[in-house]
Amino acid sequence: MSEFEQYNFAGKKVLVRVDFNVPLDKDFNITDDTRMRAAIPTIEKICNDGGSIILMTHFGRPKDGPNPDFSTKHLLFHLIKLLNGRTVKFASDCIGQEAIDDAKKLEVGEVLLLENVRFYKEEEKGDAEFAKKLAALGDVYVNDAFGTAHRAHASTSVMAHYFPQDVRMFGLLMNAEVANAEKVLKNAEHPFTAILGGAKVSDKIMIIENLFNAANNIIIGGGMAYTFLRAQGHAVGASLCEYDKLDLANELIAKAKAKGVNLLIPMDSKVASKFANDAETKVVDNYAIPEDMMGLDIGEKAIAQFSEVIKNSKTILWNGPMGVFEMSNFEAGTKAIADAVVAATANGAFSLVGGGDSVAAANKYNIADKLSYVSTGGGAMLEFFEGKELPGVAAVRE
Ligand code: AMP
Repeated sequence: MSEFEQYNFAGKKVLVRVDFNVPLDKDFNITDDTRMRAAIPTIEKICNDGGSIILMTHFGRPKDGPNPDFSTKHLLFHLIKLLNGRTVKFASDCIGQEAIDDAKKLEVGEVLLLENVRFYKEEEKGDAEFAKKLAALGDVYVNDAFGTAHRAHASTSVMAHYFPQDVRMFGLLMNAEVANAEKVLKNAEHPFTAILGGAKVSDKIMIIENLFNAANNIIIGGGMAYTFLRAQGHAVGASLCEYDKLDLANELIAKAKAKGVNLLIPMDSKVASKFANDAETKVVDNYAIPEDMMGLDIGEKAIAQFSEVIKNSKTILWNGPMGVFEMSNFEAGTKAIADAVVAATANGAFSLVGGGDSVAAANKYNIADKLSYVSTGGGAMLEFFEGKELPGVAAVRE
């Protein structure tokens, strides 16, 4: 059981940092509340114990101080709904006398939602004085904001230092995120296969290098495969290719060989005459991409080869689509890989999916509940797998 689950919050004022940075439409309706729902069990446990909560989050990227478009007020009614009518109050400033008074007045089981912490530039600067003012509002610090754990901001990291070790801890979401990521990176059952897709090699270099120390197979798909193919001497036509990263791609191929890691680059592609769903298409081997066409999905041979490797794996990490899955004519590769990950999971493998676009794909194909864990943290998850220490995690553990 985690420290959080064992702790009795009765009578405590608990400062909980969540990541409620949810998308809104132009009328301020929440279009995806996944991040809010993910933090509800943490809030419920504290309230049910007899504690009260001071809730902190950032929301959007306000540039110059308070801005009504980025007020956490937009989250208030949905939060009340998610908490089944529990009393949720709002403080129009995250520090200062009003917040202090409101926090003091909180009754058992009540929640106080603070205004956006990013209305102060001190938040992103990790300012110690600002962190101290936030910390003064409560007796216990709970960090449940995995989505922001890669930031050394005042409320995500610095303020933890104002609480002794026994009253600073991860919430249930953060605990699950960290435990599952560590299980994959540090305690994987083998074979461990990492599936990396998406647009650019340059975004994924560090994660590829770090995974050389942990994975048995690294599958490369999506736009970034063409940089590897070009580096190996193939013509890639009009496909996405980072020509300044060709040497690097060859270095990664050589490193994989030296480390005994099986680096799989697709054998074939579905190529298109233009970047559009109604383009002319055909499936070709990757040594025969026509000059005027671009690869927008992996082909059938690659699907078969990748699926076989995935189905024989015991641990799977998936980040990034295999093609332009947003367009129906180029989603077959991503969908087939999703099916293979689901099949492996049903067969006992542990599968962790993370990063905005792979989570979007998992949702599009309705498979999220057939995977072992779907991470809520895009940037934080990437940085974790790059081997970096996350400031939000380190500050609680130090
Ligand atoms: P990333 O944010 O780097 O994970 O990239 C995700 C994006 O890469 C998605 O929007 C995909 O449409 C895009 N993508 C995947 N495969 C390709 C490809 N072969 N060519 C161009 N874009 C791609």
